[in-house]
Formats: sequence, structure tokens, C-alpha cells
Amino acid sequence: MKIAILSRNANLYSTKRLKEAGEARGHQVDIIDTLHCYMDITSSKPGVRYQGKTLPKYDAVIPRIGASVTFYGTAVVRQFEVSGTFSVNESVAISRSRDKLRSLQLLSRKGVGLPKTGFAHHPDDISDLIKNVGGAPVVIKLLEGTQGIGVVLADTEKAATSIIEAFMGLKANILVQEFIKEAGGADIRCLVVGGKVVAAMKRQAGEGEFRSNLHRGGTAELVRLSKDERATAVNAAKVMGLNVCGVDLLRSNRGPVVMEVNSSPGLEGIERATQKDVAQMVIEFIEKNAKPYATRTKG
Ligand code: ADP
Ligand code: GLU
Repeated sequence: MKIAILSRNANLYSTKRLKEAGEARGHQVDIIDTLHCYMDITSSKPGVRYQGKTLPKYDAVIPRIGASVTFYGTAVVRQFEVSGTFSVNESVAISRSRDKLRSLQLLSRKGVGLPKTGFAHHPDDISDLIKNVGGAPVVIKLLEGTQGIGVVLADTEKAATSIIEAFMGLKANILVQEFIKEAGGADIRCLVVGGKVVAAMKRQAGEGEFRSNLHRGGTAELVRLSKDERATAVNAAKVMGLNVCGVDLLRSNRGPVVMEVNSSPGLEGIERATQKDVAQMVIEFIEKNAKPYATRTKG
């Protein structure tokens, strides 16, 4: 098959691994720089232009769209979709997953376990907002944050109120969330491919830190999931409409709760921690599912 990886950087671990895995299974794999694609939007023959030429027809595209280029990146994925290329994750699902609030609303509608979460606009509502998620300590999250930046733990109601007021004053959109203390600074990243958890790791925050992001100094190890955790991850991926994703769980006293679902999960941490060949599983998923015009919008 002819497979395109949409990525801004051919030297990233995940990009290199996916190319390697595809070629090892006999496919032609091209790395295409997302931001250098431009579009020919015509009714007769929609195509993607790249370096002065219309790209050949690919059987499948693997979108690796960074959070900072979601708008342009999803437009490029959509252009591949309208020209009949199968996308491992469809553009609508990527956009959906990039909005933390929208994601939590959809997951809550389907009864997926979540940390109690509130969202408000007016400073008058702060006190009730904090009370509604169970009172301090609470976690306050910038909707636009990634890699743990913009996630704050407020220990007291007084601290929470000032932080929320400050964010509201700056017109920043924030979520206020119950602090899952019993998670002990650890979270679980489940890598879901085609409706199955194919690898899982536990990330533990460094000393004196509650955020377990590897970018924030967290460490990763292999973990065994309970049946409930496995089912929660699979269900979250399904609700989001993502075929390949990273589902982040916290172990709470009332069972697994989903923090977020990442549509371009990094492969380096999880492959190192679990010794699993996740890249190959993504390629096998494509082999089973890529048919021209097979993308059906679930959104
Ligand atoms: P980002 O998308 O920036 O990584 P997250 O929402 O995943 O932000 O939060 C970063 C980290 O903070 C998580 O990996 C987790 O360790 C910790 N964390 C986030 N929310 C909570 C919570 N409600 N309770 C306990 N820990 C949390
Ligand atoms: N690469 C980061 C990760 O997988 C996130 C980037 C994104 O939002 O796509 O953890």
C-alpha cells in the first residue's frame, strides 16, 4: 500500500518508527510535512498539493498533528478524506479530542468515569463551582494547555478562588476539577489501536509534583490493567471516534476516571516502557481497514 505520514518533523521518534514499521511490512511510506500541504478545493477532483505537484493517491494517511497546528492540520486531513484516502484518525475526531471541554461533555453523556469537573464564565459562580466538584483541593486547568503546563493544584478554597478569578480576568477558559489525591501523582496511559488496549504504562510524577507528564519529569513503567480500566479506555476511544489514541486514566477510589484522550499519542515513552511494537500494530490496523472512501464521519 501507499501510506502517507503527516508530520512536521521526519526525525521524531514516532514518525521514524511508523515509517520503519510500514516499510518492514512492504509498504511505500512517505513523510509529508503537514504545514507544507496546500489544497486544491474543486468539486471534480479534490487533491492535496505539495512542493508544486498534486500528491499521488495514498491508500491511507497517518495524521500526527501537534496541538499547536490543529486547525490547519485537520483541514489537511479532511482534504485527504474528501479525496478518498483512509485516515487512521478522522479529522472530526481529532478536532473533537483537542477540545478538553467538548471531550469531557461527550464522555459524560456516555457514562464514562470522569473526575468531577465544572466550567463557568462568571466570577459570581466561582464559589458554587468549587463546591460542586467537592470543594478544595481542586485542580484548575487551562483548556488550551498541553504537557501539564496550565494545570494547577489549589489546596484551599481561598487559593482556588484567587487563581480562578485571575484566569477569568485574563479571559482564559478553565476547567475546575476534583483532585484525585488517591492517584498518588500517577496516571495510566493506555494506547488504544482499533478498539483494543495494545500497551499501557504508569507514569509517576517526580518528588513534590502531582503532574505525571514525562515532560514534567515523570517516569514510566509497565503496568497491568484491571478489566475495568481496559474497558474504560476502549470505551473512551470509541466515544471519541478515535482508532488510534492515548487514553489517560487516574486510579480513583470509585474506579478509573478518564482525564483526556490524545489523538496523536507519542510512541517513544510507551514503546520503551512496554517493549511493545505499537508502530507495527498501527500499520496492521491500516492493512485491515484502509479502503478508498472508507472514512465515515461519526461526528
Ligand atoms: P495535559 O493535557 O497538559 O497533560 P492533564 O489534564 O493530563 O494535562 O494533567 C497533567 C497531569 O496532572 C496528569 O497527567 C495528572 O498526573 C495530573 N492531574 C491532572 N488532573 C488531575 C486530577 N483531577 N487529579 C489528580 N491529578 C491530576
Ligand atoms: N505528543 C504529545 C503526546 O502524545 C501531545 C501532542 C498532541 O496533542 O498531539 O503526549
